[in-house]
Amino acid sequence: MSRPVPAPPQVIPSGQGGPCAKCGKATLRYGVGGNPLCPSCRAVREAEVAAQKGARSGSSAGV
Ligand SMILES: [Zn+2]
Repeated sequence: MSRPVPAPPQVIPSGQGGPCAKCGKATLRYGVGGNPLCPSCRAVREAEVAAQKGARSGSSAGV
């Protein structure tokens, strides 16, 4: 009667969702816990920022 249903990846309240700024996947962008990046892109971004912080030794910013 009840079949296994995979858990939804993220609950997005009405009016608070939008496309991820990076991959375009629907994500919670506004309100509590909102972020323009989806959780997976956010994790990638945080890893990149951490790597850049580690690599930077204080010269003029490139991109
Ligand atoms: Zn994304």
